[in-house]
Amino acid sequence: MLKVHSIETFWTQDWPWIRLVIFLQWCMFRCKYCHNPDTIPFENDKAMSWDAEEVLNWLRKQQPYFWDNWWVTFSWWEPLFQAPELLPVVKKVKESWFHVCIDTNWFVQSEEAREILKLADLILPDIKHIDPKKCLDLVGQSNENTLKTLDYLDEIKKPYWLRQVIVPWYTNDEEDLKKLWEYVKTRTSMERLELLPYHNMWVSKWEKMKLQYPLKGVPAASTDDLNKAKAILDKYSDKIYLRG
Ligand code: SF4
Repeated sequence: MLKVHSIETFWTQDWPWIRLVIFLQWCMFRCKYCHNPDTIPFENDKAMSWDAEEVLNWLRKQQPYFWDNWWVTFSWWEPLFQAPELLPVVKKVKESWFHVCIDTNWFVQSEEAREILKLADLILPDIKHIDPKKCLDLVGQSNENTLKTLDYLDEIKKPYWLRQVIVPWYTNDEEDLKKLWEYVKTRTSMERLELLPYHNMWVSKWEKMKLQYPLKGVPAASTDDLNKAKAILDKYSDKIYLRG
């Protein structure tokens, strides 16, 4: 059974086109800026347990709104941590002609996770930080597995849109951004690199859960921060996109 945190029927942000989105429960990262800390623990009384048929039934109910353009995203909090349960679901969904996106932080290296990547149409990996030590400090895991997975995506020629959250003081250092591009330009299946602004509007969620927000005092990324990062990367590429 798949542990589902929540579902969205008409999501227009974060992914291409209007999409059905299934957010899964559980994450092994501990991002200092996590905007949904309630999705991290595996145990959550509010999470739903769905098998492949239940997922498909829910998706089919949405069909009248989507005509032939059935687009579904399996998103974190983190879909591949449940890869053994997710694989049969993705297989069935693909049989029904859905366009499938996987939005992931790429920590999981299992056979099932790789099979899911092969089946999906578009992958949306988040690189967190190009520097392994800074990555560990910011999100509680090194970027080693993420980079391995990106190699795998290039190997199987799977299109992906790479994401980097611009967090002032943490991920907007000029040298790090240059390093990021040095890395990114070696990628062969990456269609775009998206820069997303860090927001601090979910501090209240942490407070409600009686957790201390680790980035208290760090300002939200401004348009200026994003433009500066883009200007550094733009010197090297035309594949950079800014997101709101
Ligand atoms: S990967 Fe996503 S869900 Fe997991 S801790 Fe980071 S922001 Fe939160």
